[in-house]
Amino acid sequence: METIDLIARRELGNLRRYTRETGAPTRLADLDLEPMTRVEQIEIDEEHITVQYNKTTERRYNANEITHREWVYKYNDDAEFVAAIRTVIELSRKHMYDLPENVACPPGCAECCSGYEPFVSPSDVQRIADHFGMTYDDVMTQYVVPRESADGSYVGWLRKVTDDVADKCVFLMGSRSGKYYCGIYEARPHDCRAFTPIGCEDVDTNLPKGGKYVVGAPFKPKHPGKNGRTGKRL
Ligand code: SF4
Ligand code: SF4
Repeated sequence: METIDLIARRELGNLRRYTRETGAPTRLADLDLEPMTRVEQIEIDEEHITVQYNKTTERRYNANEITHREWVYKYNDDAEFVAAIRTVIELSRKHMYDLPENVACPPGCAECCSGYEPFVSPSDVQRIADHFGMTYDDVMTQYVVPRESADGSYVGWLRKVTDDVADKCVFLMGSRSGKYYCGIYEARPHDCRAFTPIGCEDVDTNLPKGGKYVVGAPFKPKHPGKNGRTGKRL
């Protein structure tokens, strides 16, 4: 991933100016030089260029806290502003062509299926129940850690293979990274469908991106319930 070096450019300009104007010593370590390695949004108006970058999402039950850093450059009629915009536009154009590669997970990577617990809504549970021909309640008992959210939109999250939170999702199949696949792919929860690899920090970078990927047999419930009946939630 290419680093946009605008922060260093601006901060070093500030440092030079500060030193020139005050003659006081200053320390590089005090400057905010965190590189923009993941740019989320760029806004350019007649006065400012604003870049949002290095977004992080902290997932907790019922809430995701999303934070990002922001770089704002105020227009002050100098050539540096123009050069900064040119750099951003050139890099944006360049990375537009990279996008199809960037948004695809390497086949067989499923680090996120161990790192997170997908929350499930009543309709997720019902979809999984229909998929297996099980009752809603049996799916809740066998595959869901129950914890209803205050507004009722979630009823819990998918179980791990063991109680260890770092363990893999109970539905994750395959023996190792590069071989993993979702055992209930068509019926997976909305959280899994909506999960995006953009900005993903968990990716197994050793995996190749392309190539044909063949998955194995789907997940089969060990205890499908009485007669494998389907029961809708009332
Ligand atoms: S349901 Fe499938 S996609 Fe979702 S966490 Fe489990 S294995 Fe991964
Ligand atoms: S690249 Fe990231 S989002 Fe995609 S499967 Fe791997 S860990 Fe999950």
